[in-house]
Amino acid sequence: MSKSYVLNIIPTPIGNLEDITFRSLDTLKKSDYILCEDTRVSKKLLSKYNIDVPLVSFHSYNEHKTVQKHIDQILDGKTISLISDAGTPSISDPGFLIVRESIINDIEINCLPGPTALIPAIVNSGLSSDRFIFEGFIPNKKGRTKRLKSLVDEERSIIIYESPKKILRLLNNLISFLGEKRKASVSRELSKIYQENIRGTLKELYDKFENKNIKGELVIVIDGNKN
Ligand code: SAM
Repeated sequence: MSKSYVLNIIPTPIGNLEDITFRSLDTLKKSDYILCEDTRVSKKLLSKYNIDVPLVSFHSYNEHKTVQKHIDQILDGKTISLISDAGTPSISDPGFLIVRESIINDIEINCLPGPTALIPAIVNSGLSSDRFIFEGFIPNKKGRTKRLKSLVDEERSIIIYESPKKILRLLNNLISFLGEKRKASVSRELSKIYQENIRGTLKELYDKFENKNIKGELVIVIDGNKN
């Protein structure tokens, strides 16, 4: 890294605490402090790897207020790493704001490669992985219809994050916009004991989940429009 000021972005496990690279652990160990979402969650990871570095809360509620303070610390020579509860920061998690502000302040970004839920989900789906788009979470209210409409003619595979409570509503909406025969896959609890990949048409997935008490974390991948 040629620039002297750096913000480290460190991906953390999405379920299995062993899914973290040697370089990520080394970078965390060498940090003056680590920005994280929930200190209780990140403490478990740090204690597993005997990392004794202060954790500082940095979540969507306070990132606007505190970002400049951390930028100043980096410019003052401190080594700071950003992690989230799970996966890669800035991917449906806090991070974008501090990355943008760091670049404005001539601080280089060093995002290490590592865990994120979307990549195993697209690969496990068996749907085309040549080209795909990541939609993150579809808005619950405002903008939901517009976003779903924008997917109608999408030819690439589509990756969406969703919570178990809302998956039926999403599948129902996807059936309305994309048709019940569209192929899809739901990856549940990736890297955890009860990991499963459920593949079928949107209608088959809907029927499978209907009246079930769905638990855990989910990613849905939908085939692109092949017509
Ligand atoms: N930053 C994370 C990443 O890089 O994937 C995403 C964080 S976002 C707040 C949480 C969402 O990611 C969940 O609702 C789910 O859609 C997905 N997710 C995270 N861990 C998962 C897992 N183990 N299995 C399936 N989906 C997961």
